[in-house]
Amino acid sequence: MLAVEGLTKRFGGFTAVQGVSFTVAEGEILGLLGPNGSGKSTTFNCIAGMLRPTAGSVRFAGREIGGLPADEVCRRGIGRTFQIPRPFRHLTLLENALLAAHYGAGGAITQAEAEARARDALRLAQLPDDAHATVAGLGAAGLKKLELARALATRPRLLLADESLGGLDAAEMRAAAEMLKRIRDERGITIVWVEHIMGVLLSVVDRVVVLDHGAVIFEGTPQAAQEDPKVAEVYLGP
Ligand code: ADP
Ligand code: MG
Repeated sequence: MLAVEGLTKRFGGFTAVQGVSFTVAEGEILGLLGPNGSGKSTTFNCIAGMLRPTAGSVRFAGREIGGLPADEVCRRGIGRTFQIPRPFRHLTLLENALLAAHYGAGGAITQAEAEARARDALRLAQLPDDAHATVAGLGAAGLKKLELARALATRPRLLLADESLGGLDAAEMRAAAEMLKRIRDERGITIVWVEHIMGVLLSVVDRVVVLDHGAVIFEGTPQAAQEDPKVAEVYLGP
């Protein structure tokens, strides 16, 4: 479904992502791991059209999407969450999801259809879908759910989830992992899930790609990742 090949992103003289290649099969949950600053979000931003790759290709469903603008990438079926939630705080949860639904459809759906997609996305993310629920009362876990709901409201075939566990306690982390798994199992949405910690992610993902200093240092099963000396070095030090 997704094929990233030789992806490179430079910021001035600094290379944040260098020659990264990986593929994602339809229906898979791929964990994209790596310590802080290893290039995970930059990779997402290059896929999702927030950044233009310096070099390399990104193919989605057989077509090149590298360098396309973010709204076009979204309309083609790639939804993403942001590491730092950025909801419209003066709008309700439903209004936030509605905007996302219209954005993902490129304005080509009716208000009724947008509302159906918005409510469905909120329920999938286990948030209230009534017209009154506001952003104000949401804690860290709620804000992460809203990020997810906004991405889901765009009706993605591929979901890029960036650091969905940030700021959550252990129980909330398990719940978030279960939620991503359910989204894949029940809706067939393919997921690339970025985290800097391995933890609960390993129990849910089918495969793992590990980045370090902008390059892939490991690709394989979660089990193999836990036994790999290069991965251990990156996470625990030499
Ligand atoms: P991760 O998501 O794995 O923590 P990032 O992709 O956010 O890492 O960042 C990778 C590296 O690129 C970091 O060293 C970061 O400081 C740098 N970087 C990210 N975005 C920019 C930018 N817009 N300009 C300059 N450097 C950046
Ligand atoms: Mg990041």
